[in-house]
Amino acid sequence: MAINIILAGPRGRMGSEAVQMVLKEADFKLVACIDRKFDGQHLKDIDGMPDIDVPVFQDIEKCFQQVKADIFIDLTVPEVGYYHTKKALENKIRPVVGTTGFTDEQIIELTELAKTNHTGCIIAPNFAIGAVLMMKFSQMAGKYFSDVEIIEKHHDKKLDAPSGTAKKTAEMIMETREFKKQGHQDEKETIKGSRGGEMDGMRIHSVRLPGLVAHQEVIFGSSGQTLSIKHDSLNRDSFMEGIKLSVLKVMDMNELAYGLENIL
Ligand code: NAP
Repeated sequence: MAINIILAGPRGRMGSEAVQMVLKEADFKLVACIDRKFDGQHLKDIDGMPDIDVPVFQDIEKCFQQVKADIFIDLTVPEVGYYHTKKALENKIRPVVGTTGFTDEQIIELTELAKTNHTGCIIAPNFAIGAVLMMKFSQMAGKYFSDVEIIEKHHDKKLDAPSGTAKKTAEMIMETREFKKQGHQDEKETIKGSRGGEMDGMRIHSVRLPGLVAHQEVIFGSSGQTLSIKHDSLNRDSFMEGIKLSVLKVMDMNELAYGLENIL
């Protein structure tokens, strides 16, 4: 039986790839899209979109009232993505969320809401399988190296910094690493921000440049050695396998999972 999907952000870089992925999958059916600019039209009316009769809504509640769906995919911006995810859970439509930049409080609230409504939900800051392995390997290394710095690099259209992947990596390392404040205890920044952001004593550096997609290197150091764990997403196709897998997995879940590693 087909899995009916509503997708928010179909004109975006990630959203347009996801539309193609959904259309290619025999068991997936795109039943509606959420887009702030083309309310009441169809996907085929939008420049660059596939020639299909999928209705477009601006208002997610109106969409949920009119269209039956199993899954809601969000690839938009943090504030809107959070609101959409909340509405999907209230309507018992399983969210698969790639949008990054949610606060810890929002994740906790959505986790509670998913539990109360017995509705599966996957929020993954990175849907690339290689990136998930990079995080897992970094978590393993954190047990042996307390000195670690994370350098994440993204295209310059990205709105949040540090990336959701960098934050998630730091959180995973925190589970195995003994706390240590990174760098010299008396170090002083002569240019504010030179040492990057701080999370549990670890330093996170965000690079934003045109031409980049999504890249991260986690560098561990100890006496006489360094260990670098690096992942590069060269295009947005790298995220589609993870979204596809999440759609399939979330159908059998009734709670929220934060991070693709929790469903692999
Ligand atoms: P993008 O190209 O800027 O696309 C964002 C889409 O959201 C656009 O279609 C935009 O429409 C729409 N949007 C913006 N504000 C909106 C609003 N108020 N209401 C409804 N729609 C709105 O960004 P992207 O590169 O596709 O990234 C989308 C999200 O995915 C970001 O949060 C990014 O960090 C995240 N991401 C996640 C992964 C992962 O693996 N989890 C990988 C890459 C990116 P307009 O054109 O009208 O602004």
